Amino acid sequence: MRFDAESGYQGFCPECGGPMLMISAEAASAGIGATKRQVYRWIEENRFHIQESGSGETFLCSASVAAHGAMRENRGLLGQGGSEESN
Ligand SMILES: [Zn+2]
Repeated sequence: MRFDAESGYQGFCPECGGPMLMISAEAASAGIGATKRQVYRWIEENRFHIQESGSGETFLCSASVAAHGAMRENRGLLGQGGSEESN
């Protein structure tokens, strides 16, 4: 999964400790095939590295979004085998 520069801006992710493409929640939801509502819920659950812009808008580290999206895809494939989720 890749996000191009049009999806956000080049920022600094403190979690990754380096320059990262920071993308909007809207771009993230489109990128991983989720609704914006889901994305905002995951933000509240601290699933993503986030950074607030000066205007108070939340931007997400594209690496954390891509990792989360890949995890969902893998889980979907595994789920077809009838695997059980345990806590
Ligand atoms: Zn990050």
